[in-house]
Amino acid sequence: MSDEETPGVESRISPPDLTCPRCNHLLPSGLGVIKCVMCDAEVNVEHEGTRRKWREEKVSCPECSKVLVCGVDKRPANLQCSSCGSHFVLKPHRPKIEVACPKCDRVLRMNKRPGERDISCPACDAEFKIKF
Ligand SMILES: [Zn+2]
Ligand SMILES: [Zn+2]
Ligand SMILES: [Zn+2]
Repeated sequence: MSDEETPGVESRISPPDLTCPRCNHLLPSGLGVIKCVMCDAEVNVEHEGTRRKWREEKVSCPECSKVLVCGVDKRPANLQCSSCGSHFVLKPHRPKIEVACPKCDRVLRMNKRPGERDISCPACDAEFKIKF
C-alpha cells in the first residue's frame, strides 16, 4: 500500500472532498481538471480557499528543519530551502480513512482513494470490499 516513492514532505492541507457530478463516486483529491477514475468524466475543480492555504502553508525543510512558507498554490510543489538550498517536493495531502473490519471490528487505516478495493484484514484474514 505504499505509492509514496519520491522523497519530500506531505502537505497537511487537503482540497474539499468532492463527488463526480456524473457518477457520484468520490473524485481523486486535487484541484484543476480532475479525472473521475470511475467514469472518466473530467471535472474542473477550483477552490480559492484551498489555493490560498496552499500558498500560506508552512513546511519544515526535510534537510535542516527550517520552517518555510510554501508560496506556491499547487501541489505537488517544488521547493527550495532558503537556508540550506536543498530541493524537495511538497506532495499532495493524501486523505486517510478508517474502516472497521466487519468480522473482528479491528479498525484499519488506509488511503482514501476512489473506486472499489478488496481489503484483507491483517488481524483475522477476513476479506471485504470498500467503495467510494
Ligand atoms: Zn464519475
Ligand atoms: Zn533546509
Ligand atoms: Zn478482521
